[in-house]
Amino acid sequence: MVRNQQHIMVRLGKLAATLAVLAASSATNACGTDGVAVQILGSGGPSVVDQRASASNIVWVDGRARVLVDAGGGAFLRFAESSAKIEDLSLIAITHLHADHVADLPALVKSGYFSDRTRVLPISGPSGGNDFPSLSEFLNAEFSEPRGAFRYLSGSLDGSDGFFKLEPRQVPANTKKPFEVFRDADLTVTAVSVPHGPVPALAYRVDVRGMHLVFSGDQNGSADSFWRLATNADLLIMAHAVPEDADPVARKLHATPSAIGLGAGQSRVKHMILTHLMARSLRTLDANIALIRKSYTGKLDIATDLACYPVPAP
Ligand SMILES: [Zn+2]
Repeated sequence: MVRNQQHIMVRLGKLAATLAVLAASSATNACGTDGVAVQILGSGGPSVVDQRASASNIVWVDGRARVLVDAGGGAFLRFAESSAKIEDLSLIAITHLHADHVADLPALVKSGYFSDRTRVLPISGPSGGNDFPSLSEFLNAEFSEPRGAFRYLSGSLDGSDGFFKLEPRQVPANTKKPFEVFRDADLTVTAVSVPHGPVPALAYRVDVRGMHLVFSGDQNGSADSFWRLATNADLLIMAHAVPEDADPVARKLHATPSAIGLGAGQSRVKHMILTHLMARSLRTLDANIALIRKSYTGKLDIATDLACYPVPAP
């Protein structure tokens, strides 16, 4: 009897271990293997918020992570949790060079050293201005010899030392018309400049299989050129960093709820995901959503880390 009980306990233990592995593996396949989807890696902003990494997103096509939009703090871990592979990426699209959008880039580049990737990886971002470097200057400040902070990763600039090469694609300042940063048989990725106070910043549009996905980056929502880019978007990943009564400095940087609602409504966005959530925008979230809803009637979701949003085929 005692032996039988022990046997049952061992079998239950093995079953529990098997279930734990299954649970872990199902958690790594949130976006499935078919169709187009956007996964939020980081739904937070620059201030620490429990459960929210800083800004980062993936565009999935048929189970492959094709575009990484931003790589803020925490993207390194979320990238692994999403089951994305650096070998599958066609583009890293950086919206701007604030730390909460780019801090984990060197960590992902170093991780790529241990991957099977050898082909060039295009990386797009803004040209410089005011107190901000251009994308190329930023990459050099991080990786180039002899003075880069992570000069031991300098192989990522020229493909030497067992690294794959990052190929910078810079978007000129004040780009009002969509500027193509990547194109292949499946994907076209374009960018426009967006107003984010003094910070050179971009929004991106990814066109794939007749669907279009738009990433606002950080911006105050005042540029017609951005809302034209978002016209009829199947999915708009929209930063919601401030409440309606934000102070004047914050309003130059970020869109208020009413500005988000007005723009998304006029652009006939079909599905909007609010992300880049901070304590100050979460505190009055219900009231903010009510303001957005005054002008926007499409589908609306609040991002959480690792949430996946499949895009229905047209
Ligand atoms: Zn920013």
